[in-house]
Amino acid sequence: MEASALESLYTSLVPLASHADLETYIQRIADGDTSPILTNQPITTLSLSSGTTEGRQKYVPFTRHSSQTTLQIFQLAAAYRSRVYPITPGRRILEFIYSSKQFKTKGGLIAGTATTHYFASEEFKIKQEKTKSFTCSPEEVISSGDYKQSTYCHLLLGLHFHDEVEFITSTFAYSIVQAFRTFEELWRNICSDIREGIVSSRISLPKVRKAVSDIISPNPGLASWIEASCKELEDKDWFGLIPKLWPNAKYVYSIMTGSMQPYLKKLRHYAGDLPLVSADYGSTESWIGANIDPSSPPENVTFAVIPTFSYFEFIPLYRQNQNCSSSIDDFIEDEPVPLSQVKIGQEYEIVLTTFTGLYRYRLGDVVEVAGFHKGTPKLNFICRRKLILTVNIDKNTEKDLQSVVEVGSQLLGKTKAELVDFTSHADLVKQPGHYIIYWEIKGEADDKVLSECCNEMDACFVDQGYIVSRKTHSIGPLELCIVERGTFKKILDHFIGKGAALSQFKTPRCTADEVLLRILNVCTIKRFHSTAYG
Ligand code: AMP
Repeated sequence: MEASALESLYTSLVPLASHADLETYIQRIADGDTSPILTNQPITTLSLSSGTTEGRQKYVPFTRHSSQTTLQIFQLAAAYRSRVYPITPGRRILEFIYSSKQFKTKGGLIAGTATTHYFASEEFKIKQEKTKSFTCSPEEVISSGDYKQSTYCHLLLGLHFHDEVEFITSTFAYSIVQAFRTFEELWRNICSDIREGIVSSRISLPKVRKAVSDIISPNPGLASWIEASCKELEDKDWFGLIPKLWPNAKYVYSIMTGSMQPYLKKLRHYAGDLPLVSADYGSTESWIGANIDPSSPPENVTFAVIPTFSYFEFIPLYRQNQNCSSSIDDFIEDEPVPLSQVKIGQEYEIVLTTFTGLYRYRLGDVVEVAGFHKGTPKLNFICRRKLILTVNIDKNTEKDLQSVVEVGSQLLGKTKAELVDFTSHADLVKQPGHYIIYWEIKGEADDKVLSECCNEMDACFVDQGYIVSRKTHSIGPLELCIVERGTFKKILDHFIGKGAALSQFKTPRCTADEVLLRILNVCTIKRFHSTAYG
């Protein structure tokens, strides 16, 4: 059969689906039904998507094919990186990676995050052999289940092997930033462990203690060098921490696009003059594309779709005219097209048919075709399609919020404060409804500046629905809540407690979750209301 005829036949017989359409089938699998429900071969493992973007975790089938494609994309990306930034074979990678706990479903299937399954798989070991780069931390550290102890040990071992480290990496950039924020506080303890060759009592998990103790030995020379370097770094507010402590590191490698963009500034600060290489694009459901231009700055990175990983379709999306307020978001959809028919400059939602039994599954990500590489499209990640902030006719996505916060937080530059993290909430209880943006900041900012930040953000939403509603007061003034230091750590802990893994954690940029709102509201220390619209 001709490829295009086969494509037409397939799309005429199989409807588009969302996770909700498949949930009952996946639940049957989780409950132990081994009949060929979604795939011919029974599914024995389920992944939990991070759930931080959707608000709740979802089960997604995971097979050997999933680990194999992870290995393939990692090898491919490593090959492209080595063209631009060659590394010395046989050396080390400082990897801030974390497994969550694996558990059994009612039907006895193993469940955990996709990264957890991968770190536990044979493919993770094969990748190290094939790319001739070895992670600093042993398996016991990666899978300790306690991210604070893992982070401490990653840092300790990273420093133990400091002159062998060729690059520093994590799945999402958030993990690197949180690790070095921890380092700023705990470097003295780490130094003392290196001096004595004894692991700090804060590492209480026996398996982890033993695994790390077997590697380190007293090294007063290294400890003194780290101490002197850290004192120097402290005076520079830790600018250039990475090249200072890991002098042979060639680059920093992690996902820095999409919801990770707000951490870029801090990452650049730590990386000094080292290049930041933005990592590949994928999801728990399937890997999608590789960054084949590693030297391009994270803001411009594109992902070349690997057409063999899944069957890809693309739903063309058109920004609709602003007067139309009936539909669920800002887009009008056209009929899905196969990968071979996408057009440069057009935005699409990705649809996947995977080898793990998801058929014509809407991923919910919006991408733009930026060009082609040998016939396969190179995609710009735009945003999650879901709206996060909406009160009435206003429509704002995570990307809209991110842009507004970026502009608003630039005003903090006038002071000695920096934005640590943020989230938001559409408050519909008080009438008229309004947006609340929560900020955690480090350092001192006076109220006048914070109040300017609040006004600036209110004025910066470009969505016509929002502007019109603000002018007519059917949406109330934007509220900026400053939360105390450590609030976003509490939010992270809340998610980890529910089974999320730090490796896949993404701070929810908007929340209606009662527990999270309670944490945020209890921790609010200052409130500002915008006067931008009078
Ligand atoms: P997960 O829940 O961990 O499966 O998250 C997958 C989602 O993370 C994707 O659907 C994207 O929204 C986002 N994501 C993954 N890789 C990237 C990337 N390179 N750039 C931007 N967003 C990404």
